[in-house]
Amino acid sequence: MTARAAPSPPAFGRFFLPGPTDVHPEVLAAMQRPMIGHRSGAMEQLLAGLEAPLGRLFRTSRPVMVGTTSATGFMEMAVRNGVQHRALSVVNGSFSERFANLVRACGKECVRLDVPLGCAVEPDMLRDALRRTPVDAVTLVHSETSTGVLQDVAALAAVVREFDDVLVLVDAVTSLAGSPVETDDWRLDFVLTGSQKALALPPGLALAAASERMLERARTLPARGLYFDLVSFLEATTKHQPTNTPAIPLFFALEKQLARIEREGGAEGRWQRHDAMRRRVEAWSEKRGVPYLPREGRRSWTVSCLKVPEGKSSKTIVGGLKEAGWTIGSGYGPLKETTIRIGHMGDHTVGALEELLALLDGLVA
Ligand SMILES: *Cc1c(COP(=O)(O)O)cnc(C)c1O
Repeated sequence: MTARAAPSPPAFGRFFLPGPTDVHPEVLAAMQRPMIGHRSGAMEQLLAGLEAPLGRLFRTSRPVMVGTTSATGFMEMAVRNGVQHRALSVVNGSFSERFANLVRACGKECVRLDVPLGCAVEPDMLRDALRRTPVDAVTLVHSETSTGVLQDVAALAAVVREFDDVLVLVDAVTSLAGSPVETDDWRLDFVLTGSQKALALPPGLALAAASERMLERARTLPARGLYFDLVSFLEATTKHQPTNTPAIPLFFALEKQLARIEREGGAEGRWQRHDAMRRRVEAWSEKRGVPYLPREGRRSWTVSCLKVPEGKSSKTIVGGLKEAGWTIGSGYGPLKETTIRIGHMGDHTVGALEELLALLDGLVA
């Protein structure tokens, strides 16, 4: 009896799910190194080597923390260490709603500022909300992966700064490393991302930077917990030590990916490629008459959320691509049937995107 050969995995570059995204073979290979002790000199050296490139990627002079958790873990870190009594949560999709729910789950008061799916909160709306309700922190999602909306975080953060002692806590999971995020220049108090989105690593790590004033706030909060305690996490990070036993192979992958990012021209090089990809989808959308959910100027650079044409369903479009060996996302939550999402983030190229769009031509017509 002959065993059937296992199907070979699809070539790199066809997996356009809006997270996890495709991981380059070079990055995958980096994980196959022998294990090292997490309290060893080798680990300390590895962490020390991450410091400068991570600072450049986050555009900050503050230390960048890396934790073994999905991104939601660091959303919890943001809330536990950044919200004193009451937060205003900007809600424009599923991930921003998760942020709001987390505030409540951590025993703090949450005031929601809701906008319809596909929309962004604009600076004036935020100012009005902050005038109505005194809060000590604002949570928001930069690139709302569920709707493909990119908010103007620079302008929103400037509005928050008009108010005294209100922290800006930002989920940059599908923006950081894919489109401009200026942690220091925009004076953001907490910026977090996860490994499996625009960074194009396997899932399992979260990364974040916190401002000095957030650290000061954290020190005054009694129930910070242990795993996501900002004070001790930052202390360990500064000493190039992990807090607990980290997912060491993922750190090998991160080290490799940061070197690849620097080779591409750092953050700016990556932004340029993502800008080119989103422009390519915009041109296709216009030509095909397949409209975006978000309006122009508020579209994510890493995930394009398009409305499914009349008489078609996201299921048949996503299924048709799957048969051809390509993966995209259907809509998220209430938008599942009526939208599709192309996650052109991480290490994807305009070339592969062209091929994908050529296949989509046949499926939306
Ligand atoms: C994927 C995603 C998250 C959650 O990430 P997990 O790693 O699954 O916890 C949070 N926010 C945004 C915007 C995301 O795209």
